[in-house]
This record gives sequence, C-alpha cells and structure tokens, in this order.
Amino acid sequence: MVDLLIIGAGPGGYEAALEARKNNLSVTMIDDNAIGGTCLHVGCIPSKTMHHIAETMRGMRQLTQMGMKVELEPFSLEPLWMNKDKVVQTLTDDITALLKAAQVNMVFGRATLVDAHTVEVNGEKIEATNILLATGSRAVRPNIPGINLPGVVDSTTLLSLTKLPEHLIVIGGGYIGLEWATIFSALGSEVSIVEFMPTLLPSADEDIAKRIAVLAKRDGINLHLSTAVSSIEKIDGRLIVNMDTPTPVAINGDVVLVATGRKPNIEMLNLNQVKVDYSPNGIRVNNVLQTSVESIYAIGDCIGAPMLAHKASFQGKQVVAHIAHRHLDIDFAAIPSVVFSFPEIASVGLTEAEVKLKGIIYETKRIPLRSNGKAVANGETDGFLKVILDPDKKLLGAHIICAQANTLISELALMYHLGRPLTEYTGVIHVHPTLSEIVQTLLQSL
Ligand code: FAD
Repeated sequence: MVDLLIIGAGPGGYEAALEARKNNLSVTMIDDNAIGGTCLHVGCIPSKTMHHIAETMRGMRQLTQMGMKVELEPFSLEPLWMNKDKVVQTLTDDITALLKAAQVNMVFGRATLVDAHTVEVNGEKIEATNILLATGSRAVRPNIPGINLPGVVDSTTLLSLTKLPEHLIVIGGGYIGLEWATIFSALGSEVSIVEFMPTLLPSADEDIAKRIAVLAKRDGINLHLSTAVSSIEKIDGRLIVNMDTPTPVAINGDVVLVATGRKPNIEMLNLNQVKVDYSPNGIRVNNVLQTSVESIYAIGDCIGAPMLAHKASFQGKQVVAHIAHRHLDIDFAAIPSVVFSFPEIASVGLTEAEVKLKGIIYETKRIPLRSNGKAVANGETDGFLKVILDPDKKLLGAHIICAQANTLISELALMYHLGRPLTEYTGVIHVHPTLSEIVQTLLQSL
C-alpha cells in the first residue's frame, strides 16, 4: 500500500509528488499522457515560448521604425515549433530526472477509482492510504454549427498549425484567446477577436479591460465585442464566421481559434461509484482540499477556477502538509495572475468591482508608466499600475498593464499577502532605472 497515489502528472501532481517524497511518503504517480501535463506540453510553456518570439519580432519592428534594415521573410512557423519542442523537452527531462531522483514511482496509463483506497490502471489495482486527483482540464468547444470544421482549432491543436494564419479569428477574449491573438498579431497575422461579453478579459479590473481593448485595436487587432458567433462555414477554402449582431455580419479567415473555456477532466474517474462529490465546475473539496471521501484529495484545474499552474502546485504542497500532519501557511487569497498579451497584464487581489460589491470603503491610485525612465528607454510607455486601497492604505487589489508586468506583480503580491499599510514601505529603495520604480512612485504618492 503506497502512502500517496497521484492521478495526473501536471504541475499539481508532480509538485505534490516531490513534496511528498521530501516528507518520506511513498508515492506512485499515474499519467495517461506525459509528465508535465497541460502546462508544460500545450499550455503555459508553449504559449510563453511563442510569446518570447513574438516579443522579439516586436523588438525587430521597433528597430525598423528607427530606420534599421531587418530581414524577416520568408516567414515559417516550423522553426518556431521546433524551438518550442526543444524547450518542452528540456523541461520534461528536468522534471523526469527530479522525480526519478526522488524515487517517485511513475506509471503511464488511464487511471480510474475503484474505491476510497484503490485505483485501477492498465488492468492492475494499486492500493493507497491517500489518493490525490490532479487530472487537470481540457479545452471545450461550444455547440455552434461548424465548430469542428478543418481549420477550426483549440489551444492544443493550434500547436500543429503548419502555416502562419493570414487571418486568425479568435472566438473568446479571455486570457488564452487574448494571449494567442496578440502573439499571432505580432508574428504578422491579421487577427480578429469575437467576444460575447462587452469587454475583453471579462473578469479583469474594468480599467485594465478597457485599456487592453484600446491597445489591441491600436496594434491592428479587430475587436467584435458583445457579439456571439452563430455558425462557422467553409466556403471556397475560407472559414466564414457568422456573428449575431443587430444586423448579421460575417468575417472570413483561414484559421479559427476557439478559446471559450476549459472543462475539468473528471468524467473518466468513476467519481459516482466512489461517492466523490462534484459539479460541472469541478470536484468539490473542503478547506484542506479533501473531497467528500476523506482519503481522496483533489487539486488544480480539476477542482475549477482559477485554472493556474502555480495554484495547482501550491495546492499539491498543501495536501501533502495535511497528510504529513504539518502546518503549512499558504495564502490562497493572494494568487497572482498574468496575461502574457502585449502589453502584459498582471494582478493580485480584488478588482474595483469586487471591492464595491463587498461594500468596502476604498480609494484607487493610478500611476502611469509614461514618466518611468526605463519604460521611456524601452519605448514601451503604454500602461499603468492601479491599486485599490482601504482607508488604512492596505492593498485590496493591484492591477498592472505594461510590458514586463509579469516581473512587477510579485512585489505587490508580497505586499498584499503581508496586509500591512503600504505607507510602511515608503523607505524601500528600488533600483534606477527600472520598471519597478513604478511601485516606488506609488509608495511616494501615498
Ligand atoms: P494538468 O496540467 O492539466 O495535468 C493533468 C494531467 O493529468 C494531464 O497530464 C492529463 O493527461 C492527466 N490525466 C487526466 N486524467 C487522467 C486519468 N484519468 N488518468 C491518468 N492521467 C490523467 N497557467 C499559468 O499559471 N500560467 C500560464 O501562463 C498559463 N498559460 C496557459 C496557456 C494555455 C494555452 C493553457 C491551455 C493553459 C495555461 N495555463 C497557465 C493553465 C495551466 O496550464 C493549468 O492551470 C495547469 O496545467 C493545471 O495543472 P494541473 O496539475 O491541475 O493539471
């Protein structure tokens, strides 16, 4: 009988496995695909590898605007995917080596629950004191006529495109749709986004959502907001996306990316038989991530939003701490998130709308990037930092839109976690010239 049996070797599963070994628990981990899960193979890492390439292309365009000659034609996706594959392989090898060194027993196959302490895989039964479900999520396609036509891809099948799309139509303006839209726009495709809600990133802070729409349009991305797609057709080799607007409108492109959401992978687990409670949004867990069956825990995308790799990993550590009777204080209220669009968007804590809804007295501060020396030097002055503060100047939420926002959010996440008045940090010295001075400007404005 193993101490911990993990189903799913994504960032939730493999971090839990390593943490469990550190606590001297015996571990078997099962995956039906590859070590690293969605994040490593079709999610975070492939998209961020391509984001880096797209950023480089934008930099090259900046050089062209300065009058330098930069030759980029002919453009092919093939070397970019090869580079992505190399990155994915390197990281897969690293994680595999770590798991091997830690003596995690890895089994490849589709796992199903048999009872509270037994899992079946490849026709064999494995018994465990504790079971951890970390089965992740998958892209879902809405029920629209034509949604499965050739050329209509999701964030996984997009990675098999052989040609740079001439005109990429993205259905869904959430973070996955927006990231790929801005990446392909930077690579040179014409891009249109069709979003059912009135803004891009509907769950982002309103000011951020408004600004990214302005900047996306300025970069040449066509936006169709408050618009539903009614059907997709293929006519003369082109994909026609028909949209429901007061007067019916159609746009045509050569590739359609469906990015309308993800669904927890729970159907194949036999949850009903084992009496593990769930809803369409994911497996239900208590505050220590236990399901309705005491010996079965669940983490990551399979328990629902926010679907983020670092959330899954820290939940994995939390589960191991509970099993090992160790106290681990993880601040799940302070999970930062980043949208790797151009410019990037990063946030932690509440949006202004959420603060209002809670009836908290608050003030907002907005620090524009345009007078930040490094931003001016980089030629990237679009954006701002917005914070929402309570009457004691404690941070309720921080939202950044600017290049490299991914590196700026950690300091604000720490301040949010510490829950102290920001006036206590006024004496913290930031390096000049750096984008992080935007935080110093904020602190000095309090
Ligand atoms: P997963 O990574 O999905 O791993 C689950 C594993 O379980 C998979 O390998 C699956 O094959 C396996 N499995 C499922 N069922 C079974 C079964 N019955 N038996 C055996 N194995 C099974 N998050 C970020 O934080 N930052 C980002 O920048 C980011 N970018 C993203 C970009 C894209 C395009 C996408 C799609 C996602 C992105 N995410 C990002 C989200 C991130 O990938 C997920 O939140 C994360 O992978 C969830 O980890 P997990 O361990 O819960 O599940």
